[in-house]
Parts: sequence; structure tokens; C-alpha cells
Amino acid sequence: ETVIQVKNVKKIYRMGTEKIFAVDDVSFDILKGEFCCLLGTSGSGKSTLLNLMAGIEKLSAGQIIIKGKKIHRMNESSLARFRQRYLGFVFQSYNLINSMTALENVEFPLVFKRVKAKKRKSMAKDVLTKVGLENRMAHKPKEMSGGQQQRVGIARAFVAKPEIVFADEPTGNLDTKTTMEVMGLIRNIAKENNQTIVMVTHDKRLAEFADKIIHILDGKIQNIEIRRDVSKSENEVLE
Ligand code: ADP
Ligand code: ADP
Repeated sequence: ETVIQVKNVKKIYRMGTEKIFAVDDVSFDILKGEFCCLLGTSGSGKSTLLNLMAGIEKLSAGQIIIKGKKIHRMNESSLARFRQRYLGFVFQSYNLINSMTALENVEFPLVFKRVKAKKRKSMAKDVLTKVGLENRMAHKPKEMSGGQQQRVGIARAFVAKPEIVFADEPTGNLDTKTTMEVMGLIRNIAKENNQTIVMVTHDKRLAEFADKIIHILDGKIQNIEIRRDVSKSENEVLE
């Protein structure tokens, strides 16, 4: 089952008289439950592509279809509702709210979904336990290490069980050991719930966690590497 279709997408930035083809006629599909990595060096256009897929930037040409909806045609309020309902985000810089505890940060997305306080707390506790922070729930971001903060960020991205999670260099500020732990967590939580992950990175070692690697260079797809066929393994499970 295809959840994301990117069709002949272009993003052109104009700098005076110069045109920058940040994304240059890119097409690919992402399947349900797939962990997809956009891999490329700095300036290759990965972040721009992710921002287009998340509806944060407007495309110059082409189509982006998520769950059958043309997201490039949506207005801001429909897009906001769509994000809230189906999408989760993990950022490189964590983006936690400093005045809130780990528990409150993780509960936050559920407030918008109108989940009741008691249920919110129990859902947030569950996911914080899953990421190994059962003893840090009352701590504020400043009282935690980078790795712990990012695990809070992951818990927050996954707490509402969004169908799709976008991650931009999610381990960019972490050491190697913590990076591998955090990547393992993201992969395991997503697989458990058959969630789709789209991750941007320049780091080949992180791409190893993915089912599909889309190699990007100068705004174009160099090649698409399928490391594990998600559609096939689904059939195997059914048989
Ligand atoms: P990556 O995420 O792979 O490092 P980016 O998507 O950030 O690459 O950038 C791709 C290209 O587009 C780069 O050449 C960058 O300088 C350019 N670019 C990105 N955002 C803008 C912008 N807002 N205005 C002009 N050029 C931009
Ligand atoms: P990343 O670390 O994700 O590759 P960058 O640090 O290259 O991103 O850029 C951060 C943000 O700044 C990008 O999301 C992009 O929108 C913007 N940006 C990048 N290059 C340019 C540029 N040449 N002119 C204007 N904005 C840019």
C-alpha cells in the first residue's frame, strides 16, 4: 500500500537572476510501514524535499499525494488538521518546551487531539517508558542529556501514533553510541505500529536502519536502494 507519492516534484529558489534547482524533477513512492531514508550530502536538497512533503514549503511543480490527498492543493487550515491527524515530527534540535517536564512535553500533542487528562498522562507515561525514561518524567529538558532530550522528542512524535513520522537529522547532535540507540528506538516503535518513517540524513550509517534508501545528489535522485521489501514481508505475515 502506497502512502506517499512524490511525482515530478521541483522546487526552484530564485536568488536575484539566478535559479537554484533545490529539488529537480524527483519521483518516488513510500509504502505503508516503510522506513525510508533520504540520503545525500549537505546542499543536495533533502531538507527541502522533506519540507515539501510536510507541506511546510510550497512546490514549484509536480504533485505530492499523501494518503490519497494532494497536499500541495490544501489550504493552511486543512493542512494543519491533516498534520495533526496523520503526521509526527522529530527535529534535530529537539524543539522541546523548556518550561515543561518530559511528561508534559509528551502529553502536549494529545491536548490538541482533545484526549482527556487522565488518558493523556497514561499514554505519555507508556511511551516514555518505552524509550527508557520512566525515571525522568518529572525532569525538564535542561536537566537531561542530549540523548535523553531526543528520546523525549521521539516519545512526543510517536505518542499520538501518527501514521507517518518525518525526521530531519534526528540524531545530528548526538554521539555515536546514543545515535545508534535512538535510531534503534525509532525503528522499533515504528515497526511495532506499522508506522511509516521518512528520515533525512547525510550519514550512511543511519541509512542502514532504513528499508529503502533514496540517494539524492544536486536535487536529483541518483538511485533508489530497496534493502527490505516491506510489501512482500506483509504478504508473508498474512500467509
Ligand atoms: P540539504 O538538506 O540536502 O542540506 P537543502 O534542501 O537545505 O539541502 O538545500 C538544497 C539547496 O537549496 C541548497 O543549494 C540550498 O542552498 C538551497 N536552498 C535551500 N533553501 C533555500 C532558500 N530558502 N532560499 C534559497 N536557496 C535555498
Ligand atoms: P540542513 O542542516 O537541514 O541541511 P541548512 O543548515 O543547510 O539545513 O539550512 C537550514 C535552513 O535554511 C533550510 O531549511 C533552508 O530553508 C534554509 N536555507 C538553506 N540554504 C539557504 C540559502 N542559500 N538561502 C536561504 N535559505 C537557505
